[in-house]
Amino acid sequence: MQKYQNSWNGTGTRPILSGMTIPELEEALAGTPGKAPYRARQIFSRISGGACSFEEMTNLPLPLRKELAEQFRIRGIGAVEKQEDRDGTVKLRLGLPGGAAVETVLLSSGPGERLTACLSTQAGCPVACVFCKTGNTGFLRNLEAWEIVEQVLVLSGLVRGRGKQISHIVVMGMGEPLLNLPALRKALEILCDPRGLGFSKRKITVSTSGIYRSILDMAENGPRTELALSITTAREELRRRLMPGSAKNPLDRIKEALKVYQEKQKRRITLETVLLGGINTTEADARALAHFARGLYTLVNLIPWNPVAELRFDNKPLRKPPAEETGRFRRMLEDLGLEVSIRYRRGRGVCGACGQLGTAPVQGDDAAVAALPLLSYRSTTDSGSQPQ
Ligand code: SF4
Repeated sequence: MQKYQNSWNGTGTRPILSGMTIPELEEALAGTPGKAPYRARQIFSRISGGACSFEEMTNLPLPLRKELAEQFRIRGIGAVEKQEDRDGTVKLRLGLPGGAAVETVLLSSGPGERLTACLSTQAGCPVACVFCKTGNTGFLRNLEAWEIVEQVLVLSGLVRGRGKQISHIVVMGMGEPLLNLPALRKALEILCDPRGLGFSKRKITVSTSGIYRSILDMAENGPRTELALSITTAREELRRRLMPGSAKNPLDRIKEALKVYQEKQKRRITLETVLLGGINTTEADARALAHFARGLYTLVNLIPWNPVAELRFDNKPLRKPPAEETGRFRRMLEDLGLEVSIRYRRGRGVCGACGQLGTAPVQGDDAAVAALPLLSYRSTTDSGSQPQ
């Protein structure tokens, strides 16, 4: 594991610019000599492009750069630890103010293929799914918008030096994104701004355990991204036991909210089902899932559980379903008229796969942590200047 400690970690009190929209930047700069609205756009564009210090913003006059450095910080993330899997997955552990830490993952679909950032929105998670490491570590706090944006900035810096860029975002890391919707909304506004990174909302998928009020809020007020429901099972009682924090969101309410969302967004909704061997792969689960999907345009995405040694259900260790069990469940769903895919697992070697965030890698067949090159995002090591 490679460690990188930014010099400003934990000491700065100056406002952080990475989580500001252009209007907010304009407002923040209002008291700065030499400011003009176009300066806010210039600064926004340079931050989105990876600038970590005001010294790098050579398109700004030197006195303004000095003034800005005294008043603001560009980024706030502190320590970064990096692990890389054989399959190209990169997992970063990011130190945040107040002692919190979150993990963020860069997924590569193969050589020359698309790069996807998997973002976290909370430190820990209150939904407490029994099959998820994050959910078993408790809940600390919601992330700020800048803490979400900077995950993309840091991951982008890793690949920029190789002439690549991240094209897709999945909000499927640590936390329940729709319990932190204001910060997520603002972060995505920044990330989708064409004057910065300009991500397309169609290339962003937000995954939720089903916070139906927030789904309705998104339908009304955006962001209208792709949506995935982490359903796990459509048997309500079993679902409440597997996902205790979902109890306030019954499946009929969730389905109604999804219908409203789909009516506005006109796109397919993914139903994600983490498959737990012997628990949610029965014919009753298949029938309940088909019943839930009726009236919605969906793709069922089966995710064979990614092992986390200490997790248990009903006092028994969870187990990954064997391929025959997964295949049988898939056929049952297809026979019931559902469209089904199985998610290709990536990042298991660094515990960066679905449900594993927060875990330390365990040596074994899947755990091949590669020797790491130095972090290549623009930082002190690139510019010779201190991040600000
Ligand atoms: S699976 Fe998602 S919603 Fe459930 S505990 Fe883990 S992070 Fe939270």
